[in-house]
Amino acid sequence: MKSITWFEELGKNDVGIAGGKGANLGELVRAGMPVPPGFVVTAETFMRFLETNNLKDDIYSRLKIDVEDTTTLQQAAAEVKKLVTEATIPVEVSHEIVEAYKKLCMKNDIIISGKKDVPVAIRSSATAEDLPGASFAGQQATFLGVKGSGEVLKAVQECWASLFEPRSIYYRVRKGFAHEKVSIAVIVQKMVISDKAGVMFTIHPATGDQSTIVIEAGFGLGESVVSGSITPDTYVVDKESLRIKQKEIAEQEWLWEGSLEGGKKKKDINPAMRKEQKISDVEIAQIAKLGSQIEEHYAFPQDIEWCIEKGKSYIVQSRPVTAKLEGLKDVEETLNKPAPKKEKQKKKKEKPNEHKPKEPKEEVKEKPKEPEPDHEEPKESEPAPEPIEEEKEPEVEQEEEPTGEKEILVKGLAASPGLATGKVVQIKDSSELSKVKEGNILVAEMTDPSMVPAMEKAAAIVTNEGGLTAHAAIVSRELRIPCVVGTQTATEVLEEGMTVTVDAVRGIVYRGKVEVEEVEEYKAAEPTTAATSKAITGTKVKVNIDFPKMAQDAENTGADGVGLLRAEHMIITLGKHPSEFIKEGEDNELVDKLTEGIQKVAEVFHPKPVWYRTLDAPTDEFRGLEGGEDEPEEANPMLGWRGIRRGLDQPDLLKAEFRALKKVYEAGSTHLGVMIPLVQNAEEVAQAKKIAEEVGLPKDMEFGVMIETPAAALTADELVQQDIDFISFGTNDLTQYTLAVDRDNGLVAKKYNPMHPAILRQIEYAVKICQEAGVKTSICGQAGSDPEMVKFLVRLGIDSISANIDSVGIVREVVVREETKLLLELARKRHEEQE
Ligand code: PEP
Ligand code: MG
Repeated sequence: MKSITWFEELGKNDVGIAGGKGANLGELVRAGMPVPPGFVVTAETFMRFLETNNLKDDIYSRLKIDVEDTTTLQQAAAEVKKLVTEATIPVEVSHEIVEAYKKLCMKNDIIISGKKDVPVAIRSSATAEDLPGASFAGQQATFLGVKGSGEVLKAVQECWASLFEPRSIYYRVRKGFAHEKVSIAVIVQKMVISDKAGVMFTIHPATGDQSTIVIEAGFGLGESVVSGSITPDTYVVDKESLRIKQKEIAEQEWLWEGSLEGGKKKKDINPAMRKEQKISDVEIAQIAKLGSQIEEHYAFPQDIEWCIEKGKSYIVQSRPVTAKLEGLKDVEETLNKPAPKKEKQKKKKEKPNEHKPKEPKEEVKEKPKEPEPDHEEPKESEPAPEPIEEEKEPEVEQEEEPTGEKEILVKGLAASPGLATGKVVQIKDSSELSKVKEGNILVAEMTDPSMVPAMEKAAAIVTNEGGLTAHAAIVSRELRIPCVVGTQTATEVLEEGMTVTVDAVRGIVYRGKVEVEEVEEYKAAEPTTAATSKAITGTKVKVNIDFPKMAQDAENTGADGVGLLRAEHMIITLGKHPSEFIKEGEDNELVDKLTEGIQKVAEVFHPKPVWYRTLDAPTDEFRGLEGGEDEPEEANPMLGWRGIRRGLDQPDLLKAEFRALKKVYEAGSTHLGVMIPLVQNAEEVAQAKKIAEEVGLPKDMEFGVMIETPAAALTADELVQQDIDFISFGTNDLTQYTLAVDRDNGLVAKKYNPMHPAILRQIEYAVKICQEAGVKTSICGQAGSDPEMVKFLVRLGIDSISANIDSVGIVREVVVREETKLLLELARKRHEEQE
């Protein structure tokens, strides 16, 4: 079997072979984008490496830990990484990688070519990375400027090991990805020694406005922008006309300089250039045009890394925007605001001898042969004293600050909305993560992906550096933690233990616990400031919830209800298999716990409909719980004892769920509904309804059926005879069962296509049947977050679409547009008919 695949041979569906990043690069090459050439060491090769070295059991058993315990997590990660880096790459694999690298060196379509070894960028590309709905941004290692066969092999192996970084392990557990099911491919790509580079969002990262492109740019290699270690220029461009609507030029004092010898060095920028615009207006338009073409190609907003080398633009990465970046005040307003000079000046006056922090005064030579992960902080050198030029800064009008008596400590860019008060804890790197306790305000020089476990605990995050599109800023938005970046001075001003209030809508940090005016206005009850957030749509846009603790956040998206409240995580967090509760006669405890979770969501969403879905857990996913060892071993758990078929076999479990629903309903939540998963035939619906009746589930409670099997879709006419109120398409399962593609199996991921006509036809058929029978229709599978699917469903007249929390905004936008288009088409048609 081939160990490597060239970009040209890959496309976007090859995630299982090349990981998210690799597949995207292949797709970009196919779309004619200027991508530096390269190849991918496939995900399968990594699995083969583990097998040949007999590492699998050893690794996965060491990962059965409580990831919230930071010390244990770090220890397990270190052990596993050691196992991977010390194992031997099979000879045939290393031979193929070396051959491919040599071929890459010889390719004459690259600037540096010839018999000599050329520097390459080596990046990890995990198979669960960059998928819609899960941003794994920056979770694994990247090595830049790697040169020579031996170093290439070493970096590939390091990338494999980085699948087991503490933050990656943590993130997978939190996101519910089984370690065993995530593999890693490695990209080996011609290194671009960029003069200028940055990132670009083809949707406004703060407002969700799809008519603009936001570009961030810096001098030198792109990693300073990507990692957020410098504050980049920000340009806002109109997508349609490519007109530059706004420019914010940031001062850049140092850059990473790449070299043909490999490695990179930190270099001071000539003072005369520091305040210059990083790329010309023409280049801004060129980059924006590439962004708009890529978005058009994918039909989805993209987060793109670009660079310019000797006047030529390259695209080095593109991925879908997974977090919808909602709830922020328009960044244009933030950018328009003069910097908080008064406060800074005051600070300087207080400490006249204080030196500017962190910027190096001298070049820092990197060890050329030792590639470094791209998330690593630049090393600091001792800053030389610098006079403070107080007088040069103009006074800022007092009325700039609508904050009355409150003392502003720092200001920056609001990267993730929210308001929080807490004690400051400063962290420098991942070795200090355990310092952060629940409710602290995490302060750091920059937001780094390695900080995710601590970020999860923090009430808010404040950083010195970084822009709105830095990797960790994306993650903080996805985790919905208030975050202010680019304050410049947070680590100096916000001292350890100090109580502060972070207004992460305005980007201000105040001393002490203060009341923030007009907080109601900011509370992100409106998830997005885009006009469509308040639009009333014919097609309801709902939200999916897995954790009751996310209910308020989910409601803040402005969703019209909960189209899927999953039971699985609620139960998994109890730590004990639900059957074990029943076996031990603790049914009441189980009912109480479920009641608590459901009640919480129902209260938050009152009076909007909330549809609870009864338990649907494949046996393999519950085996890790106490009592889970009794779960039967199944060859195909996905096709096995799950969903309503298990509920009917173990009616005590189903009854416990119905009892909990009854309690919440009777306590006043009459907007609660229930739906049953993985239905195969009408008889199952009848049986479930009978059990509901035995338990005394109120007859008025909405009762629905998930359409997740072709059998259910194609017998919709029989299902609607069962006195049901609604159906909801579970396209995650419907896709796997229709296409014979295991949704958990990366090897066949490229065959997983929810837009396959066979699925669309089933949906169309079932919607029609339901419409005739007066049964409501909905979708709660991931495909409901895909704009193409949304358009299709709106045209079918589906009643609601339930999307993941981070996609509600964009789904609503697409719904608004499609409905408007549809109305115009109808109006035009009528007009023509009249004429
Ligand atoms: C689905 O199958 O689309 C669905 C929503 O259910 P789950 O993802 O929980 O299987
Ligand atoms: Mg399902």
